[in-house]
Amino acid sequence: MNPTPVIAIVVPCYNEEQALPISAPVLLGIIDRLIEQNLASADSYILCVNDGSTDRTWQIIGELHASDPRVKGVDLTHNRGHQYALLAGLMSVIDRCDAAVSIDADLQDDPEAIIQMVKDFNNGKEIVFGVRASRKTDTFFKRTSAHAFYSFQQAMGLETVYDHADFRLMSNRALKLLAEYEESNIFLRGIVPQLGLDTSIVFYDRAGRCAGESKYPLSKMLALSVNGITSFSARPMRWIFFIGLISFVATLVVSVYVLFSYFVGHTANPGWASIMLSIWGIGSVLMMSLGVIGEYIGKIFIEVKHRPRYAIKSRLW
Ligand code: UDP
Ligand code: MG
Repeated sequence: MNPTPVIAIVVPCYNEEQALPISAPVLLGIIDRLIEQNLASADSYILCVNDGSTDRTWQIIGELHASDPRVKGVDLTHNRGHQYALLAGLMSVIDRCDAAVSIDADLQDDPEAIIQMVKDFNNGKEIVFGVRASRKTDTFFKRTSAHAFYSFQQAMGLETVYDHADFRLMSNRALKLLAEYEESNIFLRGIVPQLGLDTSIVFYDRAGRCAGESKYPLSKMLALSVNGITSFSARPMRWIFFIGLISFVATLVVSVYVLFSYFVGHTANPGWASIMLSIWGIGSVLMMSLGVIGEYIGKIFIEVKHRPRYAIKSRLW
């Protein structure tokens, strides 16, 4: 193993004009310390991926690049969302680093943990997951909803690292394996644990945002969770099948009762309630099944088109 590896810190940025001027110097400071401690090469750098921001983010990346060329930039043509921006960054540093660390622009993930990640990498680990030791700084709502998502994903058969978001180190080998996943619906937290390399975990405390507001409202979190589950697991469809099976058994029981009532002549009751219940019950099961099947057909539709997942407009290298 190279004693001083080139480390690339990849930062997806969407409307981060407030956070970047604070976070870029902090990350450069981390790189300086890695170099001082002889953990990383002096060629290590930061790559900021501008995810189609509507504010001054790209100009700020340009200014940072001008004052320190170790800050590099990639500008996506339009907003593709955190997962694709991160992927664009990781694919841009492939073969240009020995390991890449992905971190958000708001420094909620503790940059100090990068030092331990690089130490682990130097000790032969290929993937190092940053895992939150606690969620004290999250709002009650964010904490509960996030834990509900992790538990739901696990119940749905998705293998993710609990309380790990996208703060991780990946070796160049891991990046090359990742590059072979050509699916359009990319859910990195599901794919990376599947790469199957030597991994380790670094715990850290998650802080509040250093500046600006969250770009991940509940709607985006829900979309990410649904995307994760439907990209990796067919279990929801199986569940729907079982719901259908149970309703079918219930229908058999009800038919026996109805036929029995008919033959003994107890049909004075017009049966409005039971008919309504059956119609609504079966109707809702059908609707749910269609919804789930639709979700998968939607995936097939997108995969078949095989569109490029992102397009880079320009580079500061
Ligand atoms: N981000 C992005 N594209 C988006 C939304 C967010 O690249 O469409 C970036 C954002 O700039 C940040 C990271 O993804 O670096 C995480 O976003 P944020 O901090 O807003 O999410 P939260 O921490 O609130 O879940
Ligand atoms: Mg954040």
